Amino acid sequence: MSPNNVKPKILIIYTGGTIGMIENPETKVLKPFDFSHLIDNVPKIKMLNYDIDNLQFDPPIDSSNMNIEHWSQIANAIDSNYDAYDGFVILHGTDTMAYTASALSFMLENLNKPVIITGSQLPIGEVRTDGEENLITALQVAAASNDRGEAMVQEVAILFENHLMRGNRSSKVSADNFNAFMSINYPDLARIGLDIHFNVENLYRTDHKRPLLVHNNMDTNVIFIVLHPGMTRDTLEYLLNTPGIKGVVLKTYGAGNSPSDEWFTTPIANAIKRGVVILNVTQCVNGSVNSNLYDTGNTLARAGVISGNDITSEAAITKMMYLFGMGKNSAQVAKYMQYSICGEMTIN
Ligand code: ASP
Repeated sequence: MSPNNVKPKILIIYTGGTIGMIENPETKVLKPFDFSHLIDNVPKIKMLNYDIDNLQFDPPIDSSNMNIEHWSQIANAIDSNYDAYDGFVILHGTDTMAYTASALSFMLENLNKPVIITGSQLPIGEVRTDGEENLITALQVAAASNDRGEAMVQEVAILFENHLMRGNRSSKVSADNFNAFMSINYPDLARIGLDIHFNVENLYRTDHKRPLLVHNNMDTNVIFIVLHPGMTRDTLEYLLNTPGIKGVVLKTYGAGNSPSDEWFTTPIANAIKRGVVILNVTQCVNGSVNSNLYDTGNTLARAGVISGNDITSEAAITKMMYLFGMGKNSAQVAKYMQYSICGEMTIN
């Protein structure tokens, strides 16, 4: 970590997203553009007096095209530059930002430096852009240290407008507000106002100091099944019999409730008997699964569906990808899904 008289060293990893996009003059459609254009639009960066280097995806992408190879590229870039930098800022499209933040939180084991992900709703070249403020604040958060000279943030976080949030607790909640992300079931890591006020008691800390360990294997044999009235047995069975399927994140109603009829419970129980791990998460944006509240929720627990408590959908699916990617079997994945690995869910 930089002593007080040394400039903080920050690596920006530019993956794409609206922040760096420009408008095609003929079609008016936005597409990703290169990093030098982005930086040219933020001359104020020089006022920070940091040592800043950058890496960029070639070509930069709209985050709707993000996949597990891209996650691996980001994780490897952090790994190979880990000792040389005090912090990392990832510029990313907003659409899948919460998935990337969640995935990286699992992939970067023993992380004790800041990995701050940000982007914007308006391109950085636009007059009313939110990109400039987000980028500058992300850099300041990545450079922040406490009075012992340790990094203030030692986890993957999303910085967007007024909020600094734990990455694996965040979701995109608005397609047009500048405050596009929220961490609904966990307090913000910092309040961004006139000052950056860190909520120190909410920051993640490991109880050990071990070298960074990057896990690159993410297993894609996992799916969401979203309940809705009118869902048929045929649809449910079709999804549960997806070839190669290992895990399902079942998005249920309210406090984790589902139909209690036989057409629903039998296919679910059969899938679990075949070794498919099924995790119950709520479709509600706020609150937690509580399988003991209603008979309709308890039915799922009796069939062997495990509870995701207050985990976000983004963290749930990426955590399953990570655990199966680590080579864990169904029983092990079911067990670890109920633990908090890096602050992604509340354990009652
Ligand atoms: N489609 C864009 C993306 O996710 C949206 C954004 O960046 O806000 O890359």
